[in-house]
Amino acid sequence: MAALDTMRSRGELRQDEPMSRHTSWRAGGNADLFFIPLSVTDLQAFLRDLDAETPIFWLGVGSNLLVRDGGIRGVVVSAAGILKGLERIDTYLVRAGSGVACTQLARQCIRWGLGPSEFFAGIPGTVGGALTMNAGAHGGETWERVESVRTIDRAGEIHQRSPTEYSVGYRSVTGPSNEWFLEATFRFEPGITASMGAMKAMLERRKATQPLGLPSCGSVFRNPPGDHAARLIEAAGLKGFRIGGAEVSPKHANFIINTGDATATDIEELIEHVRQTVIEQHGVELQHEVRIVGECAG
Ligand SMILES: Cc1cc2nc3c(=O)[nH]c(=O)nc-3n(C[C@H](O)[C@H](O)[C@H](O)COP(=O)(O)OP(=O)(O)OC[C@H]3O[C@@H](n4cnc5c(N)ncnc54)[C@H](O)[C@@H]3O)c2cc1C
Repeated sequence: MAALDTMRSRGELRQDEPMSRHTSWRAGGNADLFFIPLSVTDLQAFLRDLDAETPIFWLGVGSNLLVRDGGIRGVVVSAAGILKGLERIDTYLVRAGSGVACTQLARQCIRWGLGPSEFFAGIPGTVGGALTMNAGAHGGETWERVESVRTIDRAGEIHQRSPTEYSVGYRSVTGPSNEWFLEATFRFEPGITASMGAMKAMLERRKATQPLGLPSCGSVFRNPPGDHAARLIEAAGLKGFRIGGAEVSPKHANFIINTGDATATDIEELIEHVRQTVIEQHGVELQHEVRIVGECAG
């Protein structure tokens, strides 16, 4: 890559940044470089200056991420802080920057009387992460509401794209490669209003059934067709099972908790143990919902 001091972009470029500071599991190794731009113009300049061989990893707020203990080679881009715009642009249309928290999107839509939008309140990530994952809850999914997105590519060029350019499934989205989301326009439905009461009731239900407040990444596995990963894991007797500091939550079997000193290796080994046990006991091969990135510790 261009020598760090010759790059033209403003912003903060950190070296050897601990990714445990940037993931909800509070575990994982260091990123070689960690870039926080001050504006979209800086982001564009940074991407233009970066040589083609340097790998880029885009971060939301790390609520669906396991970074291995060997860390991430290349550069992690953390642009959520400069993409916080949230505005109603028409009766049913809302434009949100990819750094907007899904909870904020839900609350603001409810204030505007736009629904269905409550489901976003249960997702502790950003709009960018939700677009990448097709995040969803309680029957709602991110891409059901997407009217258009704006993306940025490796050369710093900005594109306006329609949902027809993406293949979207359950917690899966594929589209143009080497592009990242800057913002999305969401369309809500006429005649469907969302209420604070319904959102609060949903959050209470989650609090009663999920180990919120403890370091996790939410559901580790996708639900297999017609079943629930949590049911299969619980039926395999794995609630409370531990490897090192990582534990299958006694409250919700599809959550793995960092009990305090878990390494990413502990967590990944526990994920694999759960996956293998469910195959042996139920003949079902669970698929990861969590994204596992980076290098194993050397
Ligand atoms: C307690 C808890 C409960 C959860 N409940 C739910 C739930 O009900 N439903 C659900 O779907 N998820 C849930 N999750 C998982 C997680 O919150 C979602 O997957 C969320 O969408 C991830 O957003 P993020 O900003 O944290 O993304 P990150 O974890 O930072 O990144 C996830 C992926 O998105 C990519 N990415 C992030 N931003 C961008 C961008 N702007 N452009 C391109 N790629 C990007 C990253 O490269 C990575 O591959 C839960 C997590 C926790 C901790």
